[in-house]
Amino acid sequence: MADYRQMWTDLGMDLEKHDLLCEVLPEVYTNIYLEQENRPEGMEYFNFVVSEIHGVRPAELIEHQKKGGKVFGTFCIFVPDEVVFAAGGIATGLCGGSQFWVPEGEKVLPANTCPLIKASVGARLGRTCPFFRIADIYIGETTCDGKKKAWEILSQDVPVYVMDLPQMKRVKDIAAWEDEIKLFMQKVEEVTGNKVTSEGLAESIRLINEKRKALARLYNSRKNSPVPISGKDVLLATQIAFYDDPARFTAQTNALCDELEARVAKGEGVFPVNAPRIMITGTPMAIPNWKLHHLIETSGAAVVVEEMCTGTRYFDNLVDESQATLEGQIRALAERYMKINCACFTPNPGRIDDILRLAKEYKVDGIIDANLKFCGLYSTESYNVQNALKEAGIPVMHLETDYSEQDAEQLRTRIEAFVEMLGK
Ligand code: SF4
Ligand code: SF4
Repeated sequence: MADYRQMWTDLGMDLEKHDLLCEVLPEVYTNIYLEQENRPEGMEYFNFVVSEIHGVRPAELIEHQKKGGKVFGTFCIFVPDEVVFAAGGIATGLCGGSQFWVPEGEKVLPANTCPLIKASVGARLGRTCPFFRIADIYIGETTCDGKKKAWEILSQDVPVYVMDLPQMKRVKDIAAWEDEIKLFMQKVEEVTGNKVTSEGLAESIRLINEKRKALARLYNSRKNSPVPISGKDVLLATQIAFYDDPARFTAQTNALCDELEARVAKGEGVFPVNAPRIMITGTPMAIPNWKLHHLIETSGAAVVVEEMCTGTRYFDNLVDESQATLEGQIRALAERYMKINCACFTPNPGRIDDILRLAKEYKVDGIIDANLKFCGLYSTESYNVQNALKEAGIPVMHLETDYSEQDAEQLRTRIEAFVEMLGK
């Protein structure tokens, strides 16, 4: 990585602690990613992004700020990035996916909080992530109790704006989300000093839709057998989608898809044709959480699809581009976002429908239903998910894990047994 120490110092980061993080990442990445066989050449871009993870993109965001632009940090796929980009801002995902940040989060949060929340709070308060330092404002949401309380703690250190997400999907709830997007737009206009116009919003709707289409194309390639790309690589690209420049990400992902489609045409893949095809469903996996994918793909199976927010939930359904007025565009945004089937909704049958549909589309042999420890929403919903899958005759295994490596061997034993049971 180039020398970014001055930039990190200017951001008020704890350089000593941050050095420890920078020391471990290259080795972990080499073991998990670079040692995979027959990786697509198009993954080079994503390797570069990871090798410069705390450098290149943070420097771009700082450049944007120097020109008077604002950066909005987000933690949930319900927050409509379109509104931020339409006002000349940049939205960047901030969810923490490393155990490194968890102890710092535990200084202010109960230990029995999910690791995603602990890591996110820890990354801010420990001053060890440039993205958390750069964001002018954090955008929270009322999705789960842990997050709701975390916003209150974070707001003592950084401006936080919270969107009130309805937790049912009646007509009045979609209307309420529409109102909430209008309020968010006002906040974005206030922070950026720019008015959102229907032309600007139309452009950003197209920009983010193009990103969704590129991701959908990437996932589509995995419907083939042999699968042309590993689940680990697709997970990485999806994680990077949350904070990369959207247009550049789309171009790079489409280039990768060209290569994958050529592979498919030649019948070339990264796993044997008879490797069991696995779907993972559950809580999101923020970068650099690659644990489960690595365990599964080094146990003889291929991960072919993820029904999660770092997966299909992020890009399924486009925003209607035919609306010409702000009113119509905001409604279209509300309608698209309210189609996301997160476990924070009650009831949430749409998620089970999605899992069953994806299982068919991606021809999966078995499903791993995985949630982060202390995530009450997904662990409780697991009961209905497992029952539906059993009824459909699809093998399923439920796992609960965190960001530490402590349970890795125990998980490997369970995963190997599951993969063997699926053996084709
Ligand atoms: S799991 Fe739910 S709360 Fe978490 S990012 Fe996804 S939609 Fe948001
Ligand atoms: S994984 Fe569960 S507990 Fe953690 S932030 Fe997401 S919804 Fe909340």
